[in-house]
Amino acid sequence: MKKILTVLFFTGLMFSMIACGGCGNSQSATAKGFGGDLTVEVSFEEDKIVSVEVTKHAETPSIGTVAIETLPAQIVEKQSINLDTVSGATVSSWAILNATKEAIEKAGFDPNDYMSKSAAVNTQKTSETINVDIAIIGAGGAGMAAAIEATQRGKDVIIIEKMPFAGGNTVKATGGMNAADTSVQANEGIEDSVELFTEDTLKGGYYKGNPELVQVMAENSADAVEWLGTIGAPLTQVSFSGGASVSRIHQPTGGAAIGAYLVEHFVDTLEKLGIDVKYNTTATEIIMDGEKAVGIKANSSDKEYTINAKAVILATGGFGANEDLYASYREDLKGFVTTNHPGATGDGIVMAEDVGAGLIDIGEIQIHPTVHQATSIMVTEGVRGDGAILVNQSGKRFVNEMQTRDVVSAAEIAQEGGYAYVIFDQHLREGLKATEKYVTNGLTTQADTIEELAKAIGVDSSNLASTLSTWNKAVANQNDTEFGRTTAMEHDLSTGPYYAIKVAPGVHHTMGGVAINTKTEVLTAEGDIIPGLFAAGEVTGGLHGGNRIGGNAVADIVVFGRIAGENASNYVK
Ligand code: FAD
Repeated sequence: MKKILTVLFFTGLMFSMIACGGCGNSQSATAKGFGGDLTVEVSFEEDKIVSVEVTKHAETPSIGTVAIETLPAQIVEKQSINLDTVSGATVSSWAILNATKEAIEKAGFDPNDYMSKSAAVNTQKTSETINVDIAIIGAGGAGMAAAIEATQRGKDVIIIEKMPFAGGNTVKATGGMNAADTSVQANEGIEDSVELFTEDTLKGGYYKGNPELVQVMAENSADAVEWLGTIGAPLTQVSFSGGASVSRIHQPTGGAAIGAYLVEHFVDTLEKLGIDVKYNTTATEIIMDGEKAVGIKANSSDKEYTINAKAVILATGGFGANEDLYASYREDLKGFVTTNHPGATGDGIVMAEDVGAGLIDIGEIQIHPTVHQATSIMVTEGVRGDGAILVNQSGKRFVNEMQTRDVVSAAEIAQEGGYAYVIFDQHLREGLKATEKYVTNGLTTQADTIEELAKAIGVDSSNLASTLSTWNKAVANQNDTEFGRTTAMEHDLSTGPYYAIKVAPGVHHTMGGVAINTKTEVLTAEGDIIPGLFAAGEVTGGLHGGNRIGGNAVADIVVFGRIAGENASNYVK
């Protein structure tokens, strides 16, 4: 029977090919991407692939979409599905390659005939020298904010980015950006101040942070939110986040993930301003003329660049994806998963040290309490900020969920198995767009009732039901007698369906880094300025002290990115 069907299938296939005179054969196929199903439509002329089109996907903007923009054309050009994945977008790349493979099979061809590895490209690199006012290393939030600011001040700027796309860790940020005394807060009747923001940040960091840097961040935060509005990226709503005394974390409308939103608008602005970004190009060295930074050396697959610049801005981000490096400062973190993008390897720290920069708080590495271990996806603080609770394997709360990340992480590690479940309801899901990603990526377990949810996750159902009932009473009375939670108690958890995500801590943020002053000038270990060298964002140390408050890193990159752009421009004149 199988044989007969096979004969019939191939006869039919041949008939249809003859009938259309070899004019074409199109097949679609679907594979799992990062954001869910990804579908391709592959067209053939005889056995030649003439087009590959991604017709449906939910991949992350600026990351997975880069694979979508580049891989289909390469498949056609090279007539091969044996291609390198796009760095940082591996899952999306595999989805495209696997779906194309299936479409080839459906078209009646053998995928093995499309497995040739393209010949190695010219390995002979050419040299190029570029002269600019300001060279920026890293197209994350800090680098792009600096580039926009400096270009708006009339300077000629180049950005060097080692990944195939912009965004770094910035594109992964979900929760929001802290800012005090903003018009958004005023509209909602929230009383906040620079002093309170400064105090919360210093207290949250165990008074280890540099008060001058903290003060500058707080003072400039409201203006930074206004500035984002001017580049088409307004933040229109505000919520609670761990460690903040008032509602202070600002988000795009509907609670959309802040990182992808900002990166999209930053990249648009770079394009509008005509700022040159060299992707797939790694900076390797800061060029010095005596004590002064005067450029950088960088490499791509086919070029060696010498970029002469009057000033250099380091915006390379942290080192949370470099286990060897972070474990060298903190052995206890060996083996932890990371929430960071693969380019967070600490190159900027090494380059800065090579030219004599000092490092501050380098062993201060933040672990985040709510990381889904199999995917390394971080469940944003915004979920707890909007009312979620944490329970252990017994179905019981064990901590004030709104405490700082280190406190919550430590409490979680102390539970059976060292993990917990984030529990939320349908009302919360509908108010926080960021939760959609967790559902589409299969992180959530969902059930219509608390008892069913408990069963689905293997937790004692009467314990979980009683925990939810006690919590809902605490919300109604605005009094958490068990753990003293005082914020993020605006909505109870009583609207099914209910959701649970199993989480444990992961390496999240490297709080230490290159020493800077309030003008973002890089300092030596002795505190002297290295002329011409500026740094901003996660590559720097001193702002967060012993613990970073959620929402302060985005404030850091926008505020200090702009300050770096301004002061590098003033230095260049
Ligand atoms: P990045 O955005 O990491 O950019 C650095 C860039 O430099 C990268 O693109 C990298 O590829 C490039 N680079 C590195 N080395 C080189 C080299 N040698 N040559 C060329 N390019 C190089 N903070 C908040 O305040 N709120 C949040 O809600 C929030 N959520 C987060 C969620 C996740 C999952 C993560 C990982 C972080 C989150 N953070 C959040 C932290 C925050 O996103 C980062 O600290 C911040 O965005 C870092 O910005 P940056 O510009 O300093 O670095």
